[in-house]
Amino acid sequence: MAGIYIHVPFCYTRCSYCDFYKTTDQQLKDEYIKALCKEIELNYSFLLKEDIQTIYFGGGTPSTLSIDELDTILKTLKNYTSFENLKELTLEVNPDDVSTDYIKSIVDLGVNRLSMGIQSFFDGHLRKMNRRHNAEQAQKAIKVAKENGIENMSIDLIYGLPYMTFDEWKENVRLAIESDVQHISAYHLTFEKGTLYYDYLKKGKLREVPEESSVEQFNYLVSKLKNAGFVHYEISNFSKKGLESKHNSNYWSGVKYLGLGPSAHSFDGNNRIWNVRDIRKYCHALMNEQTYSEMESLTDTDRYNEFIMLGLRTQIGFRLDLMEAFNSVIKQYFSNELRHQLEQNNVTVDKGYCYISEDKKMITDSIISDFFYVD
Ligand code: SF4
Repeated sequence: MAGIYIHVPFCYTRCSYCDFYKTTDQQLKDEYIKALCKEIELNYSFLLKEDIQTIYFGGGTPSTLSIDELDTILKTLKNYTSFENLKELTLEVNPDDVSTDYIKSIVDLGVNRLSMGIQSFFDGHLRKMNRRHNAEQAQKAIKVAKENGIENMSIDLIYGLPYMTFDEWKENVRLAIESDVQHISAYHLTFEKGTLYYDYLKKGKLREVPEESSVEQFNYLVSKLKNAGFVHYEISNFSKKGLESKHNSNYWSGVKYLGLGPSAHSFDGNNRIWNVRDIRKYCHALMNEQTYSEMESLTDTDRYNEFIMLGLRTQIGFRLDLMEAFNSVIKQYFSNELRHQLEQNNVTVDKGYCYISEDKKMITDSIISDFFYVD
């Protein structure tokens, strides 16, 4: 079982909080498609050997690609891998790229899951975030997608916005539930270096929300979505039963994946590979048979820390018997830390799994970092 991630680095504008790798230079698209198809060809052995079950177009904004461009990429993949066992083909879309024709065409291409960057249903928030859609477009895009063949849709929301009141957050959660989508991802705003919001934070133009507000918003979200029939299967992700993101769930459980495109990461079971985070360098290297990625072999410590991090972010946690795969020093460290975390009721051990206790999910990151082993 394996997955493919394709990074489409094009955006028309830059959102104020975003640190994903992207470019607003649309002129580079032709060159990018050629380089991407070349990268697919170079990875023929992975594609021929592995059973590809999920494909995820992320970004950037994949919906900036035309139907022909998406078709070219998928046809090139089909030259090297069968789509017979493909269970999920996700495309991230921006609401203002959605039209009836676009949705019908991507459904014809085989896309069976959309991930839509809604973020908020308030125009004021969207303007402050420099999103290019408005609230009305967001509502309309969801409706158009549903009416034209998308039966599995995820929407993204952001909480912890310094200018968002609790009542506005409640309304965002209400509208998300009312939109009757199958999956909701909700992320707390973070101030990442290199973003406009990071500068604003440093200059005192924005401030982080107090921790109590973050906790209040998160707890409200969790309780409302649970009442609405969503399963809280990962710290930031909620889905209707059986409609968890297969691609991301595989990633969290350590399945191999091939990342294509500038800044994309891959995992082959033993090594992490990451592509250059610069579209010009990426295209130039691929078209001139030069190196476009770096690789590192994972040590026991890397694998343990990753195992803990990915496992504890999910609802089911990680299998305790898999700890046997690590060396005795790490096993001893884990066993001491587990005792300490159990004493504080931060984690629960049940039926061979270890997971974050229900009322401690808000401090997941700090529990994970306590479990981390440093050589
Ligand atoms: S949030 Fe999405 S649309 Fe906005 S700049 Fe980042 S990648 Fe582009």
